[in-house]
Amino acid sequence: MHLPKHILLVEDDPAIAEPMRYALQREGWQVDWQTTAQGALHALTQQTFDGLILDVGLPDMDGFDLCRQIRQTYNTPLLFLTARNDEIERIIGLEIGADDYCAKPFSPREIISRIKAIWRRMQPAQADTPTQVDHLPIPNATINSTVQDTTPHQD
Ligand code: CA
Repeated sequence: MHLPKHILLVEDDPAIAEPMRYALQREGWQVDWQTTAQGALHALTQQTFDGLILDVGLPDMDGFDLCRQIRQTYNTPLLFLTARNDEIERIIGLEIGADDYCAKPFSPREIISRIKAIWRRMQPAQADTPTQVDHLPIPNATINSTVQDTTPHQD
């Protein structure tokens, strides 16, 4: 069964959040839009999300502080919206556990692409697994030999 991706969007500016929510929904994703850090923390206790989009400048809490709090409990993929092309903001965001960032101005399509890229990085690298891997002793793991890549290697 294919469940739609569920995204938590935390952004207090409707001019940014509304077109983004529209674009994410057109992608087939469910969007929970929160305008405050407290609202976001509450939503996280109520539902499971596939991705979080956090604005750095929120009315009740710094987005970085919110990220630190979230990371104490949740590993959900997280993307920051930074106010500008600010290197310090980008570095802080990544160092406290964000998976990526987008600097304003950005397009909703860029956000969608970056979230999909995070999901791809999180998936087991099935296609890239060397065929020899089934000879390695891997405790507590079963390897399905039918997924071996038998394509001749072409260098
Ligand atoms: Ca803001």
